[in-house]
Amino acid sequence: MADDKKPAKPKTPRKAKKDCYKLEGDKLTRTKKHCPKCGPGVFMAEHANRVSCGKCGYTEFRKGK
Ligand SMILES: [Zn+2]
Repeated sequence: MADDKKPAKPKTPRKAKKDCYKLEGDKLTRTKKHCPKCGPGVFMAEHANRVSCGKCGYTEFRKGK
């Protein structure tokens, strides 16, 4: 068999964790929702119509507009 090496996938740029925070004056605020199951520190991934937790899989759908 020929070697079935998978073509290297181009790395998708991952969002830096610091993007989850916003510095207001000398206050650090979280701009993203955190997972209600995992607690603060675990941020939800934002999608077009939902947010989901990459850790436990919790998904919350956005309603309306
Ligand atoms: Zn979670």
